[in-house]
Amino acid sequence: MEGTEMAWVTGSGLAAITSALLHEVNAGDHIVASMTTYGGTFAFMANYLKKFNVNTTFVNMQNLDAVKKALAEHPNTKVVYTETMNNPLLRIANVPELAKMAHAAGAKLIVDNTFTPMIFSPCRLGADITVYSMTKYINGTNDCVAGAICGSAEYINSLIDVNNGTCMLLGPVLDPMRSASINKNLHTLHIRMKKHSENAMYLAKRFKEVGFKYNYPGLPEHPDHELFCSMMNEGYGFGGMISIDMGTADKASRIMEVMQKKGVGYLAVSLGYFKTLFSNSGKSTSSEVPEDIQKEMGMSEGLIRFSMGLDNDIEATFQLIKESVDECK
Ligand SMILES: *Cc1c(COP(=O)(O)O)cnc(C)c1O
Repeated sequence: MEGTEMAWVTGSGLAAITSALLHEVNAGDHIVASMTTYGGTFAFMANYLKKFNVNTTFVNMQNLDAVKKALAEHPNTKVVYTETMNNPLLRIANVPELAKMAHAAGAKLIVDNTFTPMIFSPCRLGADITVYSMTKYINGTNDCVAGAICGSAEYINSLIDVNNGTCMLLGPVLDPMRSASINKNLHTLHIRMKKHSENAMYLAKRFKEVGFKYNYPGLPEHPDHELFCSMMNEGYGFGGMISIDMGTADKASRIMEVMQKKGVGYLAVSLGYFKTLFSNSGKSTSSEVPEDIQKEMGMSEGLIRFSMGLDNDIEATFQLIKESVDECK
């Protein structure tokens, strides 16, 4: 899937992320990271790593000049860290360019590809390490917690070295029974990704027709549509994540309650399930991200993020969403 020589599975996505990061940095090193990462990743870099005197400069990954500047200001940078598709604005990181910049500065590029398995293969685009939360799309049935780290054989072998490997010594192992059950689900991932993408694309077009403020990278008006096309593996679409902006957190919350009652899906913060899940990002998945940074990212408090399910009749789903919004006018 990734085109890497090896991979290692971990007990959670956050275990994959923290292990990969800890393995790359020594006390006094620096990280340049996207300001829009998963909240736990953000908190790990912003707070926890400080106890090892590892500091992080958070930048807007859309601004490549800001990345260049941060790298120039911190010659001790060992890692550039980003997500291929960020949450909840669904902006796309320019992996090939970021890889060039990181390598020129003597750093590695680590990419979290949790939102877009099959669609992107970050290591094929130049990243050194790809990390996953398999809790989401890869397993796809929301009944497990797991992660993965993909990279070169040399790197993975050093991660699991019995004397010095982070994945060996901190013990973030994935239970073998669980590994086997995820492996079974992995065999349908390509078909699931196509369907998640097809449903999200359908909704994006319908949202556009009825005048909702929608955000989906599959449509040309998304600021990263072209970049997405230049990086994507053909045939899996533009992903199952889509968001709409309802203006205020209160309105978003009322609409989500109604959608849940009508059976659109579940009000839940996860993603990649066969049922549709939705949440208000500012109050949930990005709540670790300080409000001023949420503003700088361009996040609205009324944003509802959908992880589209595998619905067979997506027009019916659209009608239920529309009714829910209309009821909350
Ligand atoms: C959920 C998630 C994680 C954390 O994964 P867990 O398996 O819950 O530990 C990391 N990154 C992203 C992008 C996620 O969505």
